Amino acid sequence: MSPIELNKRQEEILQIVKGNGPITGEQIADRLNLTRATLRPDLAILTMAGFLDARPRVGYFYSGKKPGQDISDTMNNMKVKDFQSIPVVVRDDVSVYDAISQMFLDDVGTLFVVDKNSCLTGVLSRKDLLRTSLGSQNLNAIPVHIIMTRMPNITYCVRNDSLIQAANRLINQQIDALPVVEEHPEGFKVIGRLTKTNITRAFLSLSENHEV
Ligand code: ADP
Repeated sequence: MSPIELNKRQEEILQIVKGNGPITGEQIADRLNLTRATLRPDLAILTMAGFLDARPRVGYFYSGKKPGQDISDTMNNMKVKDFQSIPVVVRDDVSVYDAISQMFLDDVGTLFVVDKNSCLTGVLSRKDLLRTSLGSQNLNAIPVHIIMTRMPNITYCVRNDSLIQAANRLINQQIDALPVVEEHPEGFKVIGRLTKTNITRAFLSLSENHEV
């Protein structure tokens, strides 16, 4: 729901109900020296927008909701698992050349590096690979574990983390992607990828489900 602007009369109604609820429409109208019929559209708006609740034979009472709370409820309920993508992983002994090829083939900006047990050992970004390519070294001869950012310095998330937590990590660490991991006795298995694109998609889904 969008944060809506209330008119003067709606604000007055809200104050009356806050201070006196539950209160009937008739009683609100009396206090404002208006007829019940005149108030009907305002009461309908306040009820639909979630400011007031109405109970038959009881009257109106203040719901305690702030405007726009519905959208923040939705945001807090968005989970990593609802928006994550498929991870693209490479083994830690592949060459920088092969990692670059993999990045193009799978059309991703971040590769996750795993060991022979398929456990997370590192992350490779576009710039990690570009930096290595600037020298005159043979890219076929350099294994990615030499240049990757390695554990335990990897920022990650789990399926049930909220999207807000994940977005905070992306911004605070100034990175483009988080591996979504699952803890196993031998280490972290990579089960997903959460990128800035996923966050943007989630942002768009808010506009589809709410009037923003
Ligand atoms: P780029 O370098 O292409 O702009 P990033 O901003 O994602 O991409 O990466 C910046 C640096 O942070 C790189 O050195 C990369 O290895 C590292 N990095 C990327 N993702 C993570 C992560 N999830 N945890 C730790 N380091 C990361």
